Amino acid sequence: MFCPMCHTPHIGLVIRDGTYFFRTYHGSEHDPNCLYSFDPVSSNTFQEYILREENQNELHVKLQRFVYRLLNRENIDLHNLLLHVQNNRCTNYNINHANIRNRRDIRRIPTKSITAPFNNDDLNSYMLFYGKVDVLYSIKENGTNTFHNIYFYKRNRSELLCSLSFSQNVAVHLEGNYNLIPNEKKSNIGVAFYSEMIRNGQFLNARLTHSKLFFMDSQ
Ligand SMILES: [Zn+2]
Repeated sequence: MFCPMCHTPHIGLVIRDGTYFFRTYHGSEHDPNCLYSFDPVSSNTFQEYILREENQNELHVKLQRFVYRLLNRENIDLHNLLLHVQNNRCTNYNINHANIRNRRDIRRIPTKSITAPFNNDDLNSYMLFYGKVDVLYSIKENGTNTFHNIYFYKRNRSELLCSLSFSQNVAVHLEGNYNLIPNEKKSNIGVAFYSEMIRNGQFLNARLTHSKLFFMDSQ
């Protein structure tokens, strides 16, 4: 196998303790313009960035571009997933060809496909999660509490991959923006969101703190 983006380094599938991950062969380097040649931004730095209100429009545009690429409507845009980081803080500097070339202070947003197996490195860490999946919206009442969830399933199967939970405030926006109807399954949807995945028994759940940190569209 080769890197899906630059097709340069050889990549092997490693299985350890029942979980799968990819590893680049020693001495095999990514193309310097490849997204994966950049180190990922740390979870704490990325969390601080996504929770800052002023960044959420820009972050939303990144999600939209990412999903369009997933649905083969747009070409790969290297800049889209790069951030400028200084003193453990993401800045609002524009990433351009010059600073990509000298590579200083450039980090990539970590990404994780929700349709691929999870291992411990994918948990409890802020990332961009994405997938082409079937989607089910659910509202459950329990006494005075209301629980809003989107469940993500493997396409055309009943296998649950993970869920995304959010507050009533976030639900109002998502219902309007994406025409979400409780208990109606939507098929073949491209989704992407920023959060951290938490394991809860056999279930994987992420919490969505703001409607702008989520994007979905159909094929
Ligand atoms: Zn590469």
